[in-house]
Amino acid sequence: MKTEPHPHSHSPITAADIAQWHGRYDVIVVGFGAAGACAAIAAADAGCSVLICDIASGSGGSTALSSAELYLGAGTRVQKACGYNDSVEAMYDYLMLSNGPQADPAKIRAYCEGSADHFDWLVDLGVPFNDSEFKARAIVATTDDGLLYTGSEKAWPYVESIAPAPRGHNLAIKGDHGGPLFMKILTAAALQRGVEVHFETRALRLIEDSGEVVGLVVRSDMQERYLRSNQGVILSAGGFVMNREMLAEYAPDLMRCNLPIGNTGDTGSGILIGQSMGAAVTNMHEGFVSLPFYPPSSLTFGIFINAHGKRFINEDCYHGRVGAHVLQQPSGPVYLVLSVEDYGKYETHSYLGAAVAATGETLDELLAELDVPENQLRQTIECYNSHAEQLADPEFHKSGEWLKPLTAPFVALDCTPGRGVNMPYFTLGGLDTRVSGEVLTEAGEIIPGLYAAGRTACGVPRRADGYASGISVGDASFSGRMAGAAAGAREKR
Ligand SMILES: Cc1cc2nc3c(=O)[nH]c(=O)nc-3n(C[C@H](O)[C@H](O)[C@H](O)COP(=O)(O)OP(=O)(O)OC[C@H]3O[C@@H](n4cnc5c(N)ncnc54)[C@H](O)[C@@H]3O)c2cc1C
Repeated sequence: MKTEPHPHSHSPITAADIAQWHGRYDVIVVGFGAAGACAAIAAADAGCSVLICDIASGSGGSTALSSAELYLGAGTRVQKACGYNDSVEAMYDYLMLSNGPQADPAKIRAYCEGSADHFDWLVDLGVPFNDSEFKARAIVATTDDGLLYTGSEKAWPYVESIAPAPRGHNLAIKGDHGGPLFMKILTAAALQRGVEVHFETRALRLIEDSGEVVGLVVRSDMQERYLRSNQGVILSAGGFVMNREMLAEYAPDLMRCNLPIGNTGDTGSGILIGQSMGAAVTNMHEGFVSLPFYPPSSLTFGIFINAHGKRFINEDCYHGRVGAHVLQQPSGPVYLVLSVEDYGKYETHSYLGAAVAATGETLDELLAELDVPENQLRQTIECYNSHAEQLADPEFHKSGEWLKPLTAPFVALDCTPGRGVNMPYFTLGGLDTRVSGEVLTEAGEIIPGLYAAGRTACGVPRRADGYASGISVGDASFSGRMAGAAAGAREKR
């Protein structure tokens, strides 16, 4: 070796500088979560020899910690069996609208057109789904039912222009255990195909030859090893929610939430490795954020109030959209105001880790205990109640199903970010890629031999306020599969 890069640098090294190679594979995959597993399976199915290296001692990543709800639609077997007539266009329109100006039309188009087929691909690998629907308003299904609403499809503004359909697919296992089962099945499928796996092996930097990625430097057993790739390296090392420096640089707003969710490997190393090869990053300020205030679904009958004593959202939308809007409120408190009838026993029940900010046998008592302009809040509640009686919400368009006047006695939960309320978050920005997973430079040029997938790339989910549960594992598995197939189809060096 001629060059000695800084031990913490991710800068690529040149193939010509490597005296001895420690292995040669067609495709090398960094990270064994959903994206890496699906990339490896697709590359192996294309006839490639594949290595996955993962810093952890086993497969899984954040995917195994997750519920592994998968946001899929456009006519999956489960949707059809449950009587839903979903279409590519309805799904495309919903994802375009919910991702707003940040939407990537090409990625959303490919995801929607490939969605039902991706469901079948997963089923063929052995991922089980029951043909039944979980009908309650919930974050995850507590049963083994296969389908549930996991976004804001039935809520304003989406319901106004797009026919709603449930697209959250839940694995056939009772309780919140989808992630471990999903990764167990994907791991077995990769191993059955002869994919080689090196655990406790950290990807450090790329190896390049005249601007083309031709290998990867890893560290295992306290030694650096040089691995040659004939067709490509796929970075699928998760996001950067556990990297405080990157969060402060790119997504400081997310740090107002209190619960980074993910695995300890979510340090952004895949993104940094790509960047040091000249890759562009995009949408780095965005993340999933949430204020998971239901279940119980009866809390949806409450109203969120900001520091001005005003409402700011239709409370029947997805909890992530509520979380995103909470972060956008003027500085000061945020409360969820409810009838005790809908809250239950506030003496013994606390939701969201949030403190009970106020209670009141009368509206006056409640108003006196809250730190917002009394008159404004009185007006907000009276106005809400008079419309709710008519099952109307002209200001925020909450659906009739969740409208009824707030009645005494009252209770208010303190949902102010930073005061203890649970606000989970993870990152949605990453390397700029094509649908194929090919990584792009700032100039929009492909870096030959380099691919990225899952949360290392910026994929379909791009916005906190438009997020739907299942879109991250859905996108990670789909984008991994695309990257594996593309690298697998590349000419061997
Ligand atoms: C509690 C929880 C619940 C969730 N529920 C859902 C849900 O139901 N549906 C949904 O869509 N999303 C959910 N998410 C989000 C979702 O799980 C993740 O965004 C998604 O699984 C990411 O997949 P991935 O393949 O990109 O990364 P991961 O699954 O995290 O895999 C990345 C792998 O890369 C490895 N790695 C990292 N750096 C290196 C390195 N330098 N060298 C080698 N290996 C490295 C890691 O060890 C890890 O194994 C949830 C997340 C959490 C934490």
